[in-house]
Amino acid sequence: MRGACERAYGGMTSNAEPSGALVLFSGGQDSTVCLAWALQRFGRVETVGFDYGQRHAVEMQARQAVRARIAERFPAWAGRLGEDHVLDLRGFGAVAESALTSDRAIEMTAKGLPSTFVPGRNLVFLVYAAALADRRGLKALVGGMCETDFSGYPDCRRDTLDAMQTALNLGMEQDFAVETPLMRLTKAQTWALASGLGGEALVEIVLAETHTCYLGERGDRRAWGYGCGTCPACDLRARGWAEWIAEGRPALAAEAIA
Ligand code: ZN
Repeated sequence: MRGACERAYGGMTSNAEPSGALVLFSGGQDSTVCLAWALQRFGRVETVGFDYGQRHAVEMQARQAVRARIAERFPAWAGRLGEDHVLDLRGFGAVAESALTSDRAIEMTAKGLPSTFVPGRNLVFLVYAAALADRRGLKALVGGMCETDFSGYPDCRRDTLDAMQTALNLGMEQDFAVETPLMRLTKAQTWALASGLGGEALVEIVLAETHTCYLGERGDRRAWGYGCGTCPACDLRARGWAEWIAEGRPALAAEAIA
């Protein structure tokens, strides 16, 4: 199994798709695994992050740390990893004010959504990402949206993203593909995919460098990485880790989720 994984990320230079990808990259666990997925698959990969008034600069710092560590540990991927872009969406953040962008507590709203939900956030991200990808000549837009460990975010559903892909391609006269490799995976399977894409080295980068916690806590390192341990994002991450460990740390090959 390990041999197959090593082949998957060691001998990938000949069969990469030349068109290139833009990864919506927050520096969290999910978008880091998406970045590795894109680096295995595409000959040129750029990243984009969005500053929409997050409370936590730690998220923006994690992005650079993850990119640097991936380039250092995976020389074949380093040659594919292109520019990083950060777009200012603070105007949108002001409109969509919620617990992520102000100091309101995390709670459930009347619609059954956590107050961390920013209405239409992924839709806005994709419009900006697509405009950037158009300028950069990139055809795939890769995001970590997932409807399995679903927090109830309607803009993470594949149906929403299919509609968005159609709208972007019509409205920009393009042929973008909105790629969501984690869409059907549980959080345990996302750890397994990290292992399948980059073995223990990538799992360690996810543990040591990525930031997912809503409260922006780093603190002491836990078994599953850094975070407060109690917010919904930490809870999902910790439960996925425990499940993956209980299953014996299986590796999931990218081909298996295609
Ligand atoms: Zn947390």
